Amino acid sequence: MSVEETQLLVRRIKEGTVIDHIRSGEALRVLQILGITGKDGEIVSVAMNVPSSKIGKKDVVKVANRFLKPEETDKLSLVAPQATVNLIKNYKVSEKRKVELPRVFKGLLKCPNPTCISNAPGEPIVPTIDVIDREMPLLKCRFCQRLFSPGEASLL
Ligand SMILES: [Zn+2]
Repeated sequence: MSVEETQLLVRRIKEGTVIDHIRSGEALRVLQILGITGKDGEIVSVAMNVPSSKIGKKDVVKVANRFLKPEETDKLSLVAPQATVNLIKNYKVSEKRKVELPRVFKGLLKCPNPTCISNAPGEPIVPTIDVIDREMPLLKCRFCQRLFSPGEASLL
């Protein structure tokens, strides 16, 4: 299914962000990780189990009048590493971004080790998590060296 066909499936948006190629069933986690609740009044369309030539079945999320920032695309890599982000301006794709794990998460993720110094209250430390393997994928806290998977990570 082409971007154009997918566009037709749920309401087209004039301005905003289309997150495509989300693994089917993961759309709600995508909304959650981006903090999109619909309470801010934005128009959010979610399509689930859309046929996809690339990945079989996929979910698609469209958020009108909101453009994902690069750091939000980084966050997205934790739940939808194969997704694509299309920024739409005047009904046309103005920018396409591939979601990729960044090399490092700075001030975005919490180390899962409760005794890690980056979790100590009052410490002026920016939690810094390195992505040491993008295929597995595997993350590593720069402070306590704890290794963990994206599923164990929580957002700050
Ligand atoms: Zn740590």
